[in-house]
This record gives sequence, structure tokens and C-alpha cells, in this order.
Amino acid sequence: MTTPLSLNDIAERLQGYDPQALSARHVNDFLAQLVQPVREQESVPLMQAHGRILAQDVVSPISVPPHDNSAMDGYAFRGTELLTDRPTRLTVVGTAFAGAAWQGTVQKGECVRIMTGAIMPAGLDTVAPQELVKVDGDQVQIPPGVLQAGDNRRLLGEDLMAGQPALRAGTRLAPAACGLLASLGLPSVSVWRRPKVAYFSTGDEILSLGEAPREGAVYDSNRYTVAGMVQALGCELIDMGVVRDEPAALEQAFVDAAAQADAIITSGGVSVGEADHTKAMMKKLGDVAFWRIAMRPGRPMAVGRITQGERSAVLFGLPGNPVAVMVTFAAFVRPALQQLMGWQAPALPLLKAKSTEALRKKPGRTEYQRGIVSTNAAGELQVRITGNQGSGVLSSMVQANGLIVLGHAQGNVAVGDEVDVMMFDGHL
Ligand code: AMP
Ligand code: MG
Repeated sequence: MTTPLSLNDIAERLQGYDPQALSARHVNDFLAQLVQPVREQESVPLMQAHGRILAQDVVSPISVPPHDNSAMDGYAFRGTELLTDRPTRLTVVGTAFAGAAWQGTVQKGECVRIMTGAIMPAGLDTVAPQELVKVDGDQVQIPPGVLQAGDNRRLLGEDLMAGQPALRAGTRLAPAACGLLASLGLPSVSVWRRPKVAYFSTGDEILSLGEAPREGAVYDSNRYTVAGMVQALGCELIDMGVVRDEPAALEQAFVDAAAQADAIITSGGVSVGEADHTKAMMKKLGDVAFWRIAMRPGRPMAVGRITQGERSAVLFGLPGNPVAVMVTFAAFVRPALQQLMGWQAPALPLLKAKSTEALRKKPGRTEYQRGIVSTNAAGELQVRITGNQGSGVLSSMVQANGLIVLGHAQGNVAVGDEVDVMMFDGHL
């Protein structure tokens, strides 16, 4: 493992790094240098591999399909026999079933009844689907103009060729990839260990579920949104609950988290002028930068490493506001955790949709607005914002199916202007 860069090293490499006015782009660039992938492999049975990240390239041990075979139930014959001006007449000399090779030979003017998936008999290259064919005893007629030589035949190796890479290291094993590995006959697969992500909420006003409501206090919703987002990505969550705003409790929580986790996420206590001990404890136990990001919602954030003996864990100190937590997670923590997982994730594609309303936007910061994307009468994508955009209003996050991303340099949006939308895709 390479020695991790210090925050100072990273800051020096980033042009125009200003912790008091950091662009969203800078945050992503910074985190890309801070986070080191977990490099421990384990072998898992394919049935348990869903959502895991492939640790090694997989080279096909076999070709799929392993033989030329029929794509239809019908009659296999030589494509050179097809007539274009009158029906092609052929005599059926046998039947090829799926799962066993048909052993006979086929002369000119002959064909073989064949089932879907059956190996193409030697020398035959075309299949007439049974619904196109007129059958009379052992005689079949294929009308002219309905088929071409080579039709309805699947070629050996057309999916995967033996010796060729089938999947690359860093691929997330989604259902299609699991199916593909199964088609190669592989019962288990090498994946990266799942990162452990410890989470706790901070703030004396935060109530755990089950506690009686009291004046000035709010229930801990961040713990549940973060748990969902961390687990949806495929990381292992270490749930550390709510930690009191008291030096000894905070120190114990950070030390425990750093001793077992690869990453620590906290919420609350990182705003400017916050009169609590969270920031002081982060400073004491690690190498941590406190940022003001040019974005809305979610301006304050603490980032760095907390060290405990030989171990260190990446720290994401998120703001406390429930929507700010989700937005900063989607924009920054998610790609950073993907890197920690070893997932070579393609950047989330942004959708373009027409805004149904005018939006006020100041250049010089990135704004994320909760939006509902739908299709208008003309079949175009449109997006409207979900009412109250307050950074504590979770109900509007629930209604939304995406975040409108108004870029750093962008100004006001007029009705009908196209805007970028980050779709939720089930992960927020
Ligand atoms: P802070 O970042 O600590 O200043 O918190 C900003 C706002 O978010 C305050 O209104 C907090 O009460 C609220 N908040 C902080 N942590 C949580 C949490 N875990 N669940 C729900 N709301 C929170
Ligand atoms: Mg607070």
C-alpha cells in the first residue's frame, strides 16, 4: 500500500484550493486523492456476489455459446439452397434436439428439424422458423423472400470468446454481470472486501428513536438516511448511534470508529461558529480540514483522516441539516466511497430536462434543488421543483425523484431552459 498523501500535500496539488470557498469540483478532486481503495480480496460464491466489486479481470475459460446453434424452433439447411423466385423444397431427414449433437449427414435438398439451442448439424448455417414453413409429411416448403442465408443461427462465441476478458476488475457485479459469470461456469468470484463505514450523529438536541420527545429536540433522521445510502452502495455499516456533545464521549466514539472502520461519517457540529466539541476532537485525533463549500445546501464539511494506532479511517464530517446530509453524500461521499470500494464507477449521467419554472440562482456556487422529472405532452422531459427547498425539509426529498444541479457558473434559469438533473435511481 502506498503512503497516503497528507491534506497539505493534496491542497498543494490542487490549483486554486481555498478551504473557505471550495467549488464542488475541487471537493471531488480532493477526495479522489485522499481516498485509498480497500485492497483485500475475498472469494465469494456467485450467489452471494451481487453488488460486490470484482477484484480481478475475469478471462473466459470457455466460449459462450460453445457451438453454433439454432435461435428458433424450425428447419436447418444450407443457405446456398434458398431460392428467391419460388418456394425452396427440402426433405426432412432427422431431428436435432437441444442438449445433444445430431449425428447424421445432410445431402443437397435435405434439412433437419431443429429445436432452439440445438447444435447446428455440420455444414448447415440457416434455420427456417417453423411458423414460416409449409409442412407435408417429410416435405417442407419455404416461401421465397422471407429468409436470408445465415438467419436464426447463433454463432459460437458471439457472447464471449474463450481467452478474451469477460469482465474487468473494478466492475460492480450487478445481476447481468452475475449471470454472465454463471454462463462461464464460474461458481465463485474474487471481490474486494466491503469497506466498513462507521456512522454517528452528533448534537445534544438529537434524540434517538424510543426516547421521549422533549422541547427543542429532534429525532435523529440522519442516522437512517445515511445508513440507507451507505448500504445501498454496498458498504458495511457500523451504526454508532448518537454521540453526546461532550469531549470524552466524542473521543471514545472517534477512537472506536477509527479502530474498526475504513471510513467514518458524522453529521452535525461542523458549521462555522458551532459551539461544540466535535471539531476540536476531529482536530485532536487526526488530520482534518474544515471547509466552506460553494454550494447550497450543505456548505460546511470536515474532511480528513482520523488515526488510531496503525490504522486510519477517512473522515467525512457532514453538516447536520437532513437534506444537506443527503446532498453532500450524493455529491461527494458517494463517489469517494465508490473509490474506497475499488469500484471503477462510471460518472452518474445527468439527465437534461426543461424547467417548468423560473429558478433564481447566483453564479459562484453549485445549487442542488429537489425536483420531480416527468414527461410533458410533447414527450419531452420536464422538471419542476418540490415546493419548500429548506435544507431541513426531508418531505420534499421524499417527493423528489432527482436533484436539479445548477452548476457553479450558472445564473438564473428561465421557464423552458434545460437544466441538469441527477436522478435518484433508487439510491437516495
Ligand atoms: P448543525 O450542523 O449541527 O448546526 O445542525 C444543523 C441542523 O440540523 C440543526 O437544526 C439540527 O438540529 C439538525 N440536525 C443535526 N443533526 C441531525 C440529525 N442527526 N437528525 C436530524 N436533524 C439533525
Ligand atoms: Mg449542532
